[in-house]
Amino acid sequence: MSTKPTTGRPADLPETIRHWIGGGLLDSADGATFPVHDPVSNTPYAVAAAGGPEDVDRAVAAARAAFPGWSTLGNRERARVLYRVADAVEAREERLAALETFDSGLPITQARGQARRAAENFRYFADVIVALGEEAFRAGDQQINYVVRSPVGVAGLITPWNTPFMLESWKLAPALASGCTLVLKPAEWTPLSASLWPEILTEAGVPDGVANIVHGVGERAGQALVDHPLVPLISFTGSTDTGRHIVRSSAEHLKTTSMELGGKSPVVLFADADLDAALDSVVFGVFSLNGERCTAGSRVLVERPVYEEFTRRLAERAERVTVGPPADPATEVGALVHAEHYARVLDYVEIGRGEAKLVAGGSRPAHLPEGNYLQPTVFADVARDARIFQEEIFGPVVAVAPFDDEAEAVELANATEFGLAAYVWTSDLKRGHRVAHAVESGMVWINSHNVRDLRTPFGGVKSSGLGREGGAHSIDFYTESKIVHVMLGEAHTPRFGAS
Ligand code: NAD
Repeated sequence: MSTKPTTGRPADLPETIRHWIGGGLLDSADGATFPVHDPVSNTPYAVAAAGGPEDVDRAVAAARAAFPGWSTLGNRERARVLYRVADAVEAREERLAALETFDSGLPITQARGQARRAAENFRYFADVIVALGEEAFRAGDQQINYVVRSPVGVAGLITPWNTPFMLESWKLAPALASGCTLVLKPAEWTPLSASLWPEILTEAGVPDGVANIVHGVGERAGQALVDHPLVPLISFTGSTDTGRHIVRSSAEHLKTTSMELGGKSPVVLFADADLDAALDSVVFGVFSLNGERCTAGSRVLVERPVYEEFTRRLAERAERVTVGPPADPATEVGALVHAEHYARVLDYVEIGRGEAKLVAGGSRPAHLPEGNYLQPTVFADVARDARIFQEEIFGPVVAVAPFDDEAEAVELANATEFGLAAYVWTSDLKRGHRVAHAVESGMVWINSHNVRDLRTPFGGVKSSGLGREGGAHSIDFYTESKIVHVMLGEAHTPRFGAS
């Protein structure tokens, strides 16, 4: 274990991160582990259990055993438990933020926001499950047809390393609200904050075995979950390549899948927009969460009359963004999650230098000689076929390009394989809606960055995903709907064989 000092090392950091199966903290059946690094020193600070098929099998068995009890609890009862989970998350806000910051490199002020969002996810889905009715369809006095929803069974949840705890809560809350039991496979680069779930869920009264966690590398632990015949549903958030692979693997057992994948979301900025507000929003939208954000507005398309001015102001702001140790409250951009990811982002910066004009950033800040730091980086005059225009970089790097009219703006916005989010800036109400409707994406914000409303559908089109979660969509996903047809009048039945 490294003794190297790291900025913001939380007190009582666990040295071992174990699976949580059937209410017990367990090592892998074969004893395998993997090292976990922090993104400031890039040295290992803990070892985590590396799960495989046997561990997933144990977790699925525990979840199946807990299913009859949890799934038949009344909605109100489950909601009460979920409220207590939210309280238990909030009670640990400081601890959670400290762990998340240390493990993922997120600035501490933004990690605190994640704890509040996580708690809100539990409260929200508790409300949804209590308020949501089931549909009924009446056909005159003759027939009434009604829907019965039942939880699908053991849900498989697979999550990425960006905002890990919050994204885990985004799946745990609706799965538990719906009455599913589950196995969660957290991202291997950021397993630390997930180690709080056992105490949070137990304190809130979630029975043993209802929620289980198997840590490990995606290709082994994640794959075992995807391949398990008794897990009928996989909710996945991660990269497009992994998502494609999981959909292919899921076909074997015809699993229900939800895929929340990568993005390269455009900001379409017209000359009549409030440029000051747009500038704040663009800077925050692409550089917050270290730029490791699926909905980042990472392509900024600017109408020609304001292109030069906006690009210059964006570059100036990017140069002034405070990059620093994640635990420092003054930090706006922290350390990228892992040395491997950092190298990948730096590769894109090098590619960008050959493809476009670098107008801000592009290198490690001089005052931070160690750690995965990058000054927010702006490339201007980026052509549509450039790799930095087409590919998800997932770091503090933005590509800027001009357009001449609305048609070209829409064409450029749609010129990648992705379709997660889009942002439109204009003072023309009609044009705002027109462009929002024409852009190929699952979500559009007009005159704003990503401000979420948990009731709305969340997801992408094209290579950004399959299906929608959020609000009642999440409950639809974690439940099966059965229709019951009831004949109230006389059914007119042709009398075969009667004459
Ligand atoms: P990733 O695809 O590498 O890993 C995501 C998860 O999948 C991890 O837990 C990993 O262990 C697991 N995994 C890997 N291979 C697997 C396999 N064969 N079978 C089962 N599981 C496997 O993604 P990442 O690098 O952790 O996350 C970054 C990506 O996530 C970005 O592309 C980002 O856009 C995307 N993302 C999307 C959303 C969204 O809502 N659309 C939200 C956050 C992140």
